Amino acid sequence: MDVVVVGSLAYDSIETPAAKGERLLGGSATYAGLASSASGASCGLVGVVGDDFREEDRHLLATSGLHLDGLVTAEGRTFHWEGTYSGAMGEASTLNTELNVFEAFDPEVPNAWTAPKVLFCANLHPALQAKVLDQCTPTRLRMLDSMNLWIDIARPLLIDVLNRVDLVVLNDGEVRMLADDANLVRAAQWLHGELQPGSILVVKRGEHGVLALHPSGMLHVPSVPSPGLVDPTGCGDSFAGTLAAHLSKGEGPVNRDELRSGLEHAAVVASYTLQGLGVTGLVAMEQSDRAERLQALQALTR
Ligand code: AMP
Repeated sequence: MDVVVVGSLAYDSIETPAAKGERLLGGSATYAGLASSASGASCGLVGVVGDDFREEDRHLLATSGLHLDGLVTAEGRTFHWEGTYSGAMGEASTLNTELNVFEAFDPEVPNAWTAPKVLFCANLHPALQAKVLDQCTPTRLRMLDSMNLWIDIARPLLIDVLNRVDLVVLNDGEVRMLADDANLVRAAQWLHGELQPGSILVVKRGEHGVLALHPSGMLHVPSVPSPGLVDPTGCGDSFAGTLAAHLSKGEGPVNRDELRSGLEHAAVVASYTLQGLGVTGLVAMEQSDRAERLQALQALTR
């Protein structure tokens, strides 16, 4: 397996200034897995859904090339997240989170998947991320994402898992919150210093692009300028899933050029995700159009 993703599979109720939908397929693992698979990686999902999970959604995941042997169906309802965005849609406000089947979930990575090239712990309770880290020995890279909720309610566990991975992806608000410092560069440098030696910290900054702290220094990659923002849900997850797929193709320590190229591909995929409500923008991504967007993005910094 190139990439194993553990994270949430969800039904999301979303309202943005441009669109609104109830019980849409979502979740951190869903977006990350779809993006990873669309970037040519063989990708397995580890997660749980309830017995209300729709057959058409399972079909979409399977026909997108995702391997579902690590996906458990438990008695009860699928995880549900309700969020809203306003103004420039820079940040979601969570209205409601129902853990449902996640409350009793004990992740089990299928035996055949315990040594993937890249393990991506997408946003999930850090105790569950830790259980998956215990079971896997990736041959190249361990990546991890998180969110403000876990910084608030499970900080010690989160610090623990942050220290067990090679690449951390967070957004700027989360980095400031973890460092308790409003200055982003200082906050990112502090956090990078807290990670294990040789680690990479990727700080997502929404429409402002990403700042990455690599052992050789900092780099910046812009976002694809997108006038057609409909719903930013899953941008961060599809960004990270694409990066995981890109990095699964290489060997040895991740060098600066490879990181830059991975971040550029990730920014392009995120720009499709935000064009549609839920996963629709990501699912409709066209391969040919994608190459053009990558060129346009690269031209921005030349
Ligand atoms: P993103 O917009 O990339 O940060 O991620 C949005 C996805 O995160 C949505 O599809 C939600 O279902 C999922 N999500 C929201 N809250 C949580 C949570 N507490 N744990 C796991 N996933 C969550």
